[in-house]
Amino acid sequence: IARNPGEPEFHQAVNEVASCIIPFIREHPKYREACILERMCEPDRTISFKVVWEGDNGAVNINRGYRVQFNNAIGPYKGGLRFHPTVNPGILKFLGFEQTFKNSLTTLPMGAAKGGSDFDPKGKSEREIMRFCQAFMIELSHYIGHFTDIPAGDIGVGAREISYMFGEYKRISHQFTGVLTGKSLEYGGSLIRKEATGYGCVYFMEEMLNEQGESVRGKTCAISGSGNVALYCAEKINHLGGKVITLSDSDGFIHDPDGIDEDKLGTIIELKTRRRGRLAEYAENSGCNYFPESKPWGIECDLAFPCATENEISKSDAALLAGGGCLALAEGANMPTTAEALEVLRNSNILIAPGKAANAGGVAVSGLEMSQNSMRMAWSTTELESKLQSIMKDIHRQCLAHGRTNGYIDYVRGANIAGFIKVADAMLAYGII
Ligand code: NDP
Repeated sequence: IARNPGEPEFHQAVNEVASCIIPFIREHPKYREACILERMCEPDRTISFKVVWEGDNGAVNINRGYRVQFNNAIGPYKGGLRFHPTVNPGILKFLGFEQTFKNSLTTLPMGAAKGGSDFDPKGKSEREIMRFCQAFMIELSHYIGHFTDIPAGDIGVGAREISYMFGEYKRISHQFTGVLTGKSLEYGGSLIRKEATGYGCVYFMEEMLNEQGESVRGKTCAISGSGNVALYCAEKINHLGGKVITLSDSDGFIHDPDGIDEDKLGTIIELKTRRRGRLAEYAENSGCNYFPESKPWGIECDLAFPCATENEISKSDAALLAGGGCLALAEGANMPTTAEALEVLRNSNILIAPGKAANAGGVAVSGLEMSQNSMRMAWSTTELESKLQSIMKDIHRQCLAHGRTNGYIDYVRGANIAGFIKVADAMLAYGII
């Protein structure tokens, strides 16, 4: 805490990992002697830069841009860019730290990074978004490259922003390389990348439930968020025969007890992705229940999928989920559950799929996008979906291998230990550097 003051999210992420890894290291002293965990907690470097851009009204705006290159023991730095007013070095350090374990779990050769800006895309015109992305890339381009660091999207950064940044990188570098992932299909993007995080999260949930002799079919599912992760999580739940009853945005949530079926979801995807509208508008037009300034966790559900942002499930939200009969929770978002809430869920025997396992499908397909770019070829949707499914199965298998306790499968512990081992062994092999 003294080394990283004012970074509560980073402390929270490290504490959770350390609580699982320290007992493991006691049994494997080679990691302790080389201070592997301590070295993994320190990013390789944190880059901070100024982003100046002009608004439509001629006003000059100044934002901060960042790239935290966390660990490249098992591959080039890889992780998303977030554009949101809450972005600061502590948030990016927590995300980069988590990414280290997540990327390791995918079994693909990817190191970890995270970046972004405190720029708020809400209310900005198309041209303002373009000018910001270009200004951001002018500076970021000094630190990235297809063999060194390959950024992707995250909150506030989707295909539109990636396209503007890729165009700018191409202009500056005079190169056409796979320096970013999440690109559009026309210029090197991968099929099912946009669906991958949400789909992967549901595949992971299905694996957890199968282990208990259950499945997603027939289960009522509460989802938070209505962005990239949430919408495709909902789509896959529908494919597997579950019933999605909630979605949310930062203004409130919708509740449809009859289920947000394929047709309704299509309308919401159109509203959120093409018109960048709000769920309140959907509720007004469709007549479904709308709860302003609230979260969906008080609605009874079998399965919970937090897919919005960090720490969105508090201790009292967890108690509501437990009281409502929730069986399992899969984190589509990164660290959406507070430490106290995790405790409540565990004590209620609710299965918890941590983000570093459950939402790894996005970065896994980003890894597959990198492979396709290197090979100058494109795999089909069927091939990619089957690769994604088998990666999620493999992550589940790794979590099981280290997460079995007396009667309860501790997926949090399983993911932390399995993710740690591969990176730690690579670091040991390099010696003290
Ligand atoms: P998007 O920007 O597409 O969507 C984010 C959604 O969450 C929006 O509905 C947004 O509402 C809501 N939200 C954001 N911040 C808050 C907040 N403070 N309170 C309430 N609601 C909020 O982002 P993604 O779907 O890409 O990312 C969601 C989560 O998933 C993040 O934690 C991200 O790190 C994680 N993730 C994303 C991956 C990806 O492939 N995109 C991969 C792995 C993890 P509003 O529109 O009102 O802001």
